[in-house]
Amino acid sequence: MAKPPRLFLPGPTAVADEVLEAQARRLIGHRGPEIAALLESIQPRLRQVFQTDHRVYVSTSSATGLFEAAARSCIRERALCCVNGAFSERWAEVVEANGKAHARLEVEWGAPILADHVDEALGEAAADGAPFDAVTVVHNETSTGVTSPVDEIAAAIRAHERKRGEPILLLVDTVSSLGGIDVRTDEWGLDVCLTGGQKCLAIPPGLAFAAVSDRALERASSIPDRGWYFDFLIYEKYLERSQTPATPAVTLLYALDLQLDRILAEGLGARFARHRAMADHVRSWALDRFDVLAPEGYRSDSVTAVVNTREIDVGALNAFLAGTVDWIVSNGYAKLKDKTFRIGHMGDHTVEECAELTGAIDMFLGEG
Ligand code: PLP
Repeated sequence: MAKPPRLFLPGPTAVADEVLEAQARRLIGHRGPEIAALLESIQPRLRQVFQTDHRVYVSTSSATGLFEAAARSCIRERALCCVNGAFSERWAEVVEANGKAHARLEVEWGAPILADHVDEALGEAAADGAPFDAVTVVHNETSTGVTSPVDEIAAAIRAHERKRGEPILLLVDTVSSLGGIDVRTDEWGLDVCLTGGQKCLAIPPGLAFAAVSDRALERASSIPDRGWYFDFLIYEKYLERSQTPATPAVTLLYALDLQLDRILAEGLGARFARHRAMADHVRSWALDRFDVLAPEGYRSDSVTAVVNTREIDVGALNAFLAGTVDWIVSNGYAKLKDKTFRIGHMGDHTVEECAELTGAIDMFLGEG
């Protein structure tokens, strides 16, 4: 098979050679002392990256599995699902498919979810006598390149919770932000903060993670039908013995082990600053040549959805990029296909690589 081009996708992202190579070590069993030592050493570093004192569960699944986990373990009566793009829509579908009552708070693709929207929806539901006990939000909508102000949304939810006297759990998808954009799990009061490894954390796909609060576990213990594979209480039971409920993807844990060291050696602050600098470069380039879908103030630091104002052929662009600089970018997602294309400036990418990429797109445009 010909060597595939390097990835400038908004996930999976390019993985450093040394991280890929870390997977090629001899395997260990999943119930012995070696795996316990590995998981014990990974746990505090994961907590640092999540900025949490809560436990962080490691799931051998993609991030969508944890949509199901959060829905099954945390929604007892009724959830408010905030929808502003393809992945928040998927989360609402997962909630529905798991038989959980819910209502959607929908704004157009490309817009952020704002605290006022959530405040209004929670207020109306309480007045109608059908209050929500959980809210799902996607922090960084990868389909549109929009970052929603989760800290403000969290504050609005807390105000309703005080009035109601019952927890309203905040379940947040940070799949394309955690490790690249500042996510303060504890300071913001997130009950579930879930992510996947293949985006800003820059490991190969196949692992997902969730920081889960005590309140969320209390809720889980009051819900009878939580399934098994994604039951947070089963995760908790095994975490207490430094194991996972079922056989984990051991080789991915090797990759994670090394990558967590690399992330913490860079420093979270420096990593966020690098993502901001990459985003600044890509955004200003895109605004000069095309347009950016996300409104100012809500533009993601990890992915830019460039509006295809020139109606370029995205397939031809990728063929050109692959042949010249050995990179590929991503087409727009679902209904935004060909109307946008997306550049994933996340993970271990650098500003220099972003400049190489945008320079090559300029050549494709005949402006290089
Ligand atoms: N949420 C967001 C914001 C995503 O970008 C993605 C994937 O791109 C997902 C959820 C689903 O993740 P996975 O494909 O790992 O299940």
